[in-house]
Amino acid sequence: METGKKQTLTPKAIIHQRFGNNALYKVEEVQEPPQIGCPGLAILQKGPCLYRCSLELPDFSVVSDICKKKKDAEQSAAKMALDKLGINPSNDNPTPEEAWEDLISRIKYLFSNEFLSALHPLSGHLRAALLRGGDLHGSVPVSVIAACDGKLSNLCKIINPKVESNPGLVISYILNAASRLAEVFVSSEGQLSIQKQNPYPPEIIESSMTLELDAQESIWTEAIHIPCSLEKAVEPVILHVPSNGYYMDVIAEKLGLPDANKLLVSRTIGKSSSETRLYFAVPNSYQLDLSSDLRNAKEAVSFEGPINARASYFLGQDVCSDAILACIGYRWNSKELFHEDFTLQSYYRMLLIKIPSGIYKVSREAVLASELPLAFTTRANWRGSFPKEILCAFCRQHRLSEPVFASLELPRSNKKVKVSESAEQQTAYLNGDCTVAGDQKSVGLESNFSCEVRIYSKCHSLILECSPNVLYKKQNDAIQNASLKVLSWLDAYFKDPDTPLEKLNHLANGLNIRFDPQYFFKEFVLCPSLHKFQGSEALGGNLLEPNCKNMLNGIIEDEVSSTNIKGPDSGICPYNGSLICLVYSVSLVKKGELMKELIESNEEFEFEMGNGVVIPLIETIVTQMSVGQSACFITELPPQELILAAARDSAQVLSLLSSSCCLEFSIVLLRVTEPPEDRMEQALFSPPLSKQRVEYALHHIKESCATSLVDFGCGSGSLLESLLDYPSSLETIVGIDISQKSLARAAKVLHSKLSMKLNPDVSGSTIKSAALYDGSITVFDSRFCGFDIGTCLEVIEHMEEDEASQFGDIVLSSFWPRILIVSTPNYEYNVILQRSNLSKQEDEPEEKTQSQSCKFRNLDHKFEWTREQFNNWASELATRHNYSVEFSGVGGSADLEPGFASQIAVFRRGFLPEGEDLPKNTDPACQYKAIWEWNRLNTAL
Ligand code: SAH
Ligand code: MG
Repeated sequence: METGKKQTLTPKAIIHQRFGNNALYKVEEVQEPPQIGCPGLAILQKGPCLYRCSLELPDFSVVSDICKKKKDAEQSAAKMALDKLGINPSNDNPTPEEAWEDLISRIKYLFSNEFLSALHPLSGHLRAALLRGGDLHGSVPVSVIAACDGKLSNLCKIINPKVESNPGLVISYILNAASRLAEVFVSSEGQLSIQKQNPYPPEIIESSMTLELDAQESIWTEAIHIPCSLEKAVEPVILHVPSNGYYMDVIAEKLGLPDANKLLVSRTIGKSSSETRLYFAVPNSYQLDLSSDLRNAKEAVSFEGPINARASYFLGQDVCSDAILACIGYRWNSKELFHEDFTLQSYYRMLLIKIPSGIYKVSREAVLASELPLAFTTRANWRGSFPKEILCAFCRQHRLSEPVFASLELPRSNKKVKVSESAEQQTAYLNGDCTVAGDQKSVGLESNFSCEVRIYSKCHSLILECSPNVLYKKQNDAIQNASLKVLSWLDAYFKDPDTPLEKLNHLANGLNIRFDPQYFFKEFVLCPSLHKFQGSEALGGNLLEPNCKNMLNGIIEDEVSSTNIKGPDSGICPYNGSLICLVYSVSLVKKGELMKELIESNEEFEFEMGNGVVIPLIETIVTQMSVGQSACFITELPPQELILAAARDSAQVLSLLSSSCCLEFSIVLLRVTEPPEDRMEQALFSPPLSKQRVEYALHHIKESCATSLVDFGCGSGSLLESLLDYPSSLETIVGIDISQKSLARAAKVLHSKLSMKLNPDVSGSTIKSAALYDGSITVFDSRFCGFDIGTCLEVIEHMEEDEASQFGDIVLSSFWPRILIVSTPNYEYNVILQRSNLSKQEDEPEEKTQSQSCKFRNLDHKFEWTREQFNNWASELATRHNYSVEFSGVGGSADLEPGFASQIAVFRRGFLPEGEDLPKNTDPACQYKAIWEWNRLNTAL
């Protein structure tokens, strides 16, 4: 059959391709048996040395014939293994006609006496079929033959490539081929089974059975029943297979079918090593096409009637009857029936891992607590499967081609580089139109990796493409970021498949994604009905009672009341970018009773704060805790599917869910690892950089004899607090910030400090009033107009660049302070910070050898400027508003490269042109909300 042109690999080479080092060859020497006819000779003369080879593969092993050469023994073993696997090495490129001949002879072999005792998944079925009684004795369902012998389906694919998209055709081809064989007969109309024509000889039957057949016990195993009607619940069923029964008949009976010959069985679902398959009925409209027109064989199974949407979704092909999902069957390594419980939890996890956030949740073993993160920040801070892996798993789940990651390394560009615009791209730089003022060259960043991700259907139509125009320092960061964008978009669709196309387009644009709606919806058409998580209505009126509702509203309104937080305040608090470690547990609690069912817990759960890695409520509460404290709170029920995917004991959970209940979270904050910025500043500078900034500001306050100060972006009030410790001319101090959490902390600290220092002689402080306001410093509030000194320390880099400019314009044109001090990190200094911090921070050896990466100092930074960028920004701002500006800094030195660690600009108001007075903006606008106010007179009374 071999033609000269066909390139054939040796059996061993093919085994190597498939199994690599998992194929273990052991060659042993054997003695040639004595030749019949000359026994004497055999005693006197040793025969030539002969060899036998055993080959162990992960699922089974084979032993070769005896050969004269070691090499041949190995090839013989490899050949036997290939036969078992249904791979034909001698002709790996047969024509459809050759394949058709092979198909017929393969079926003949499967019904041979020899095959009955083989260790092969299908021979288990053949033996079990002999346990069937009456007419069914020895009859084997065709769908089992198709599902268990890989060789048959491979041959069918050669006969007709359409088989790939229509697996039902395999059955048609097998029946067609079998009908041409005298050795077997195909069952009559409506039955899909094949039976051996002449019974097996009794001794063959006996020798093929496992010795322990009599001793074999009946089997009880849990499976899942998936009704066709979406109204009916998916429920567990118990399969009881008696020792003298065929498990397929048991499944058929559960589905209300007369016997297994009316049953179809799928390929394995989920992990390929498992025996999880879907079982469902042969459709009534089944038409057998026994015509000899091979290429144009009709779709054997033409489905009609209602579709079992859930089962079809799992299988990726139409199922139109009730179905059973079970993990049971014969395997390569044993003659016994293998089985494992397939629980409701397994079912819901299988449903969950169809969507990107579900894959992430399962990879973290935190179904109820975790969420797909909003951004890929660093490898070191990421927990659970990486975005790229999740995307590959997603494509496999939906039977798409493997995603394509086109990673580009760009030559270093001389273009101006603009710092990226969105919060999620802190480590990245946009290359393109530059809005940064001034004439800048490349700022010397070595970020030059980008990555495009493309997703194709099985038939290679381009479904989706994501091409972020962002450059990364590391190739891996580029790949992970692009993958995460795709995942975020897909997840948004899966969470609400009713999202209008317009909104999907809008989301896609924001993520640099283009998708083909036609191909996209074609691939995911089945998903909508299943991922519309129904929430509590699905449980039949399980609405929370009014007072439980109120409690929940309370939580949502004032975040979490601090009474829920227990334990002393250690002062070590989480903030954005820090790595948090929690212990948590989640229980289902029945209202009004003490009954609790623990459904998820984690002893050491780490996540990066401020990156959406946990459900929002946990993040909200954790921001108010300090290390060592614990908190307890309840929430409304998440979708039932999630609870069932988390819970082991579904029966208990379902019974609880039938009455009104809620989820109770209990958490303890174990650790907080500070973001690199703070670690570095504290470790490298003495006094710490933050303190040096405060001292710098104090110096200017004293020098200017200022009496009023506004701290723009005061945060937790570190500057304001220090002002209380040093004597100065200040009388009025005000802090403004948009973070209510930070303001609350600032109020707590300032209040206690001021109350302790009532006596001005003791305190040395002249402060008469202090106040904190909630508001954005990009907006003007006339109450703070014309004060003496404004400070804005390490704030502008937390805003987008255009907002930073907006703040600059408003403050100098409208707030109009005599002096304004602005500080921000010097990007060029990061090399030094990160070099000295590298060994502590990075966990991958690969990164240390690579040229160093210059990340931003803090996850919340939207940009970090070089000296040149900052100088341009500040100089232009000063000129626009008739201010002068001087540059300075703290940490490092002006004269030594790369300058100060923190760069500072001090703006001074110029003299007004004649005829003009006071600020231009005098609108009496009160934009900020007072959070806390203190007044020495009031307090003294
Ligand atoms: N100045 C403080 C805090 C710096 S952290 C210190 O030196 O310690 C940056 C602060 O800027 C955060 O508290 C953040 O809430 C605040 N911030 C960011 N954007 C802001 C805006 N538009 N308006 C007011 N505050 C802002
Ligand atoms: Mg900062």
